[in-house]
Amino acid sequence: MEKAGFDAYYVGGAVRDFLLNRPIGDVDIATSALPEEVKSVFPKTVDVGIEHGTVLVIWRGDGYEITTFRTESDYKDFRRPEKVAFVRTLEEDLKRRDFTINAMAMDRHGAIIDPFDGKTALQLRQIQTVGEARERFSEDALRMMRAARFVSQLGFQLHPKTEEALSRCAHLLQHIAVERKLMEMDKLLAGKEVTAGLRVLVNGGLLAYLPGLTGKEQLIDQMLSYDLSRLTARQNWLFLLVLLAPDQPGDWLKEWRMPAKKIKYLAGTYEWFLKVQEVDWSAFSLYEAGIERAADAEAVSALYAGRPPRAEELKRQHEALPIKNRKELAITGKELKEWKHETGGPWMKQYLEMIERAVVQKKVENRKDKIKEWLEACNLL
Ligand code: ATP
Ligand code: MG
Repeated sequence: MEKAGFDAYYVGGAVRDFLLNRPIGDVDIATSALPEEVKSVFPKTVDVGIEHGTVLVIWRGDGYEITTFRTESDYKDFRRPEKVAFVRTLEEDLKRRDFTINAMAMDRHGAIIDPFDGKTALQLRQIQTVGEARERFSEDALRMMRAARFVSQLGFQLHPKTEEALSRCAHLLQHIAVERKLMEMDKLLAGKEVTAGLRVLVNGGLLAYLPGLTGKEQLIDQMLSYDLSRLTARQNWLFLLVLLAPDQPGDWLKEWRMPAKKIKYLAGTYEWFLKVQEVDWSAFSLYEAGIERAADAEAVSALYAGRPPRAEELKRQHEALPIKNRKELAITGKELKEWKHETGGPWMKQYLEMIERAVVQKKVENRKDKIKEWLEACNLL
C-alpha cells in the first residue's frame, strides 16, 4: 500500500491483542486509499463491504480486511449509521472506534499511534469509550454489549464513567438487531471471565433488552455463583437453558436468531441433559447422543451438581463402544431380506434397531455370522 503512495496501518483488535500478547484474531488494516484504489494495488481482492469502505485482500494465502479511513455520521435510532464518509486522516478514523483500547493503530515498523491513550487503559485493564460514553452509547447501543464482552474476553473492568453511562443508556439496546446481539453474546460466553461479563449485563440493566432474559436477573445471578469459566460458549448456552428451563427450548433459542443447526444441537443436548439427570449414561444412550453432545451435557451437569466432570471417563466409554453409528453395523437391510426371504417393509427398521441395540450393549458381536446366529436364537429368522 505504502509503495503505491498510501498510508496503511494495523488498527483495532489486532493492535490491542498484539500489545497484550494475546493471539491475534482477524487483522484489520486502515488506509488512506479509497476502495477502488485498494483494488488497483492488489491482484486479488473481494468486495466484502465496499459501501463501508472495506475490501478483503488476499495476500500470500491470508485474508486482510482493508478499510478506508472513515467517519460515521447520521446515527439513526441508536444504531450503527447507514452512511459513512471517507476521510483522509487516521486520527479521524480512530475517533469513531468504540473503546480506547480498540482505537490504536500501528504502522509497518511497529510504531504505535495512540491519540486516546489506549496504552494506559491497557495497563489499567480498563474499558473506556473514546469520547463521552453516553454519546457513544447513544450513537450505537451495541457498544454496551461489546463492553461486556471485552470484560469477559480480556478480564478488564469498565471505567467508572463508562459503567455509569452504560446503566443510563441500557434501554437503548432495544433498538439493536438481535443478530448483532447474538454475535456479542457468543463472544461473551466464550470469554475466560464470562462471569464478570455477565455481571456487566446484570448490573447495567442490559438483561431486560436481551431475548428471553427479561426479568431473569435472579436466575442469572444464580448462574454467576458457578465457575462458568470451566464451560465453553456452547456449554454456557446450555447452562442458560438448564437454569431458565423454558417450556420450548427451541423457541427460546430461536428468539436469539441462532442458526437452525445450532438450535437443533443445543435443544437436543438439553434433552440429553434432562435424561441423564434421571438415569446415568448407559452404553446405548452414549451411543445415541454421540460424544460431543454427551460431553457438553456432562460438563454442564457436573458443574450444576457441584461434582468433578467425568469427561475423560465418558470419552473412554464412548471409544469402547463396538460401533459408533448404524453405518458400522456388519449387516444392512439387504442381509435381513435374504435371511428372512421377505421383501422390505417396516419390520426391517425394527430389526435393525434391535440389532443395533444388541451390538452396542455387547449382547452380540458385530459380525454377520454372529448376528445371524443371534437372530436365530431369538427365533426371529
Ligand atoms: P475481536 O478480537 O473479537 O475480533 P475486535 O476488537 O477486533 O475484537 P471487531 O468486532 O472485529 O472487534 O471490530 C474491529 C474494530 O472495529 C474494533 O477494534 C473497533 O475499533 C471497531 N469497532 C467494531 N465495532 C464497533 C462499534 N460498534 N462501534 C465503534 N467501533 C467499532
Ligand atoms: Mg476483530
